[in-house]
Amino acid sequence: MHLSKLFIPLTKDLPAEAKIKSHQLMLRTGMIKQSSAGIYSWLPLGYKIMKKIEQIVREEQDIIGAQEMLMPTIQSAEIWKESGRYNDYGEEMLRIKDRQGREMLYGPTNEELITDIFRSSVKSYKSLPQLLYHIQWKFRDEIRPRFGVMRCKEFYMKDSYSFDLSDEEAKKSYNKIFYSYLKTFQRLGLKAIPMSADTGPIGGDLSHEFIILAETGESQIFADKRIFEINLNNYDLTEGSLKKMREDFTNIYAVTDDKYNEKEFKEKVSKENQIITKGIEVGHIFYFGDKYSKPMNCLIDDKNGKKTTVKMGSYGIGVSRLVGATIEANYNNEVMKWPKSIAPFDAVIIPSFNKNNQEYLKKAHKIYEDLKNQNIDVLLDDVDESMSNKFKKHDLIGVPYQIIVGSKSDNNNFEFKELNSDSKMLNFENIKSELKKLNCLPKQKD
Ligand code: ATP
Ligand code: MG
Repeated sequence: MHLSKLFIPLTKDLPAEAKIKSHQLMLRTGMIKQSSAGIYSWLPLGYKIMKKIEQIVREEQDIIGAQEMLMPTIQSAEIWKESGRYNDYGEEMLRIKDRQGREMLYGPTNEELITDIFRSSVKSYKSLPQLLYHIQWKFRDEIRPRFGVMRCKEFYMKDSYSFDLSDEEAKKSYNKIFYSYLKTFQRLGLKAIPMSADTGPIGGDLSHEFIILAETGESQIFADKRIFEINLNNYDLTEGSLKKMREDFTNIYAVTDDKYNEKEFKEKVSKENQIITKGIEVGHIFYFGDKYSKPMNCLIDDKNGKKTTVKMGSYGIGVSRLVGATIEANYNNEVMKWPKSIAPFDAVIIPSFNKNNQEYLKKAHKIYEDLKNQNIDVLLDDVDESMSNKFKKHDLIGVPYQIIVGSKSDNNNFEFKELNSDSKMLNFENIKSELKKLNCLPKQKD
């Protein structure tokens, strides 16, 4: 992609309501555009990054055997009346009527809809367990939408639902998801802490929030920093290993303010290991047994032919919130460096040129073609402006690697710079192999 052709409306004037750095950066680099309060359009740069995050979330769901499907955004009020949540959900739910006057709603979550699908199709324990997920827009009429994509009304969520015969089996599904979430956040370059949580309006008895540390987060957290020493690579998908993993994580103190108890915290965590800070919730998982299957009569035959309610859990990741959360975690001192796995481009070529001297621009075009042929997703900055402006701009766009073509370069050696590090002179073949090593993701088409 040539930067001159990319639709990336950089903004200098920031609206006063952009209070946190992710919201500011997303507006400054034209990743999003507000359409009305809490509702955003995703412009090419932002959308490309979100799609990469979505793809990692998807791959990690697929690895644990979850099956992708797609449910609609608009749901019938009927099923929500059956579960009893139509009234309970309150004003966060956007209620609408179709032309026949039927009550509909824009889905804030999908427990009812998936239970309805399940009860009409699965009758026997032989079809269990099942783990289904979709990645779809949700709408919640949040009372105070703020912080850009972090708390908005329309947002993109991955939600999974598990179906099992017994509590014991269901906990195995819960553990799989727990593991897959930690792997997902690790691939996104984020350190997420699983924290024991209240189950709130979704109900049930087992729940964890996955929280990344950030001063601008909305959750107050209390944790033992030894939780960061647990190495996910020591576990695998076997049942025993997953059980051990969850025990290892949950044995270390980590809670949000809902569950905080000062005495317990001080007893369990020595002063030097205490983390007291704010965090951003990027995922939330629940096991709630028959909270929906019971009122909605979702029954299956067990091994003895007896009807029993299916045991369910639900598991959400805020895909669009993750874009903002990744910025909060990585944007410092006017430099945003996207993690390689989700960077909008693998590298950017920055030639020094002007109207009278296009030599380096020509060279940059050659490098561009060569890298493209190697399947490297590269951006060419062909905009005529000063090098210092270019560097400032690329510090914000955040492509992690730069190839600088200017007076220091010769025929085959160029300045190669990783954001936040010093540049070094490298032979073009070495630049190519460094970039090829990155190969974190299957390439997406432009
Ligand atoms: P919160 O406490 O932040 O309101 P929640 O508990 O209501 O979150 P869930 O219903 O568990 O959220 O939704 C799953 C995930 O969806 C959350 O972990 C979060 O990442 C994301 N999410 C929830 N509400 C919003 C929102 N208003 N804007 C953006 N993302 C959201
Ligand atoms: Mg909420």
